[in-house]
Amino acid sequence: MRKIITFLSSTLLIFVASFSFTTVAKSAEFFTIGTGGPTGVYFQTGNAICKMLHKSAISADHGRKKGTAKAYRCTAPSTGGSNYNIGQIKEGEFQFGVAQSDWQFHAVNGSSKWEGKQFKGLRAVFSVHNEPFQIWARKKAKVKDFKGLKGKVVNIGNPGSGQRGTMEELMKAMGVDNGYFKSTTELTSSEQVKALCDGKIDAFGYSVGFPNGAMEQAATCGAKALPINLVGGPVQGLIDGADYYAAATIPAGTYTGQKKDVTTFGVKATVVTSNAVEADLVYQVVKAVFENFDDFKKQHPAFAPLKKEDMIADGLSAPLHEGAKRYYKEAGLM
Ligand code: GLU
Repeated sequence: MRKIITFLSSTLLIFVASFSFTTVAKSAEFFTIGTGGPTGVYFQTGNAICKMLHKSAISADHGRKKGTAKAYRCTAPSTGGSNYNIGQIKEGEFQFGVAQSDWQFHAVNGSSKWEGKQFKGLRAVFSVHNEPFQIWARKKAKVKDFKGLKGKVVNIGNPGSGQRGTMEELMKAMGVDNGYFKSTTELTSSEQVKALCDGKIDAFGYSVGFPNGAMEQAATCGAKALPINLVGGPVQGLIDGADYYAAATIPAGTYTGQKKDVTTFGVKATVVTSNAVEADLVYQVVKAVFENFDDFKKQHPAFAPLKKEDMIADGLSAPLHEGAKRYYKEAGLM
């Protein structure tokens, strides 16, 4: 008798398990958000968005309301950064990505690195945190400003990263090329801090939100973020000439040993998608973030200053995706 009961209950279990598996497999739609290196803020951004979406999906499932949202599930893998993400969205490999405001602009307009490869279907979703462009130099390199990088070993970032692109724009503005440095490296954002602390490179340029754990590691080994002179200098020209750049400050005390504000220029981190992505998906992603906003902001200290009104206006040069617009109108934000 006991054997029969055990047999029946395990059969029932297999039946129930396979039934619920087919239900989930049939109704869930999977998509990908491209991020950045595992030690950056983009990786946290993509994963925070997925977390908010899954949280909304769970409460909708538990409510068992008929006709509620399709079950969307996402992954946010680490990637090469902004331009890589936009390229993958263009190819239809990723549905969303995090990208710097300057590269969003260039991709949709076919300028700079995107000349001849214009991506007219690129769509803005919202902007996130500020990303001051930072040049970190190790103590022994005795560098005080950009000019002091002459003859030094400098990491300009991996191809495909936003940091690489923006470093090249800065170099252009300063009237220098790779030959100005002793040598350049193409390390990823997650490799550069160790290389700096080990003395393998003298400096790196990086656009990233703050506070950031990896930069704190650099500060702890004695490295410093250099101020970039704006007033009257060539970088002021960069800021004046483009909406996607702004003056930026890393306040004193952000990192160990940082006694003064670090002034520089910066971009916004933005979330982008394609006009080929269905409106309902974009709507659900935006809704999940905006309706769990306090929780979203807690996912990384760089999100603390975020305001919904700014997120739908600042740093966006591609048209807003219609699914995002639908939510903003419905929520009375537009
Ligand atoms: N802004 C960097 C880039 O586009 C990524 C920064 C981050 O990972 O937080 O390459």
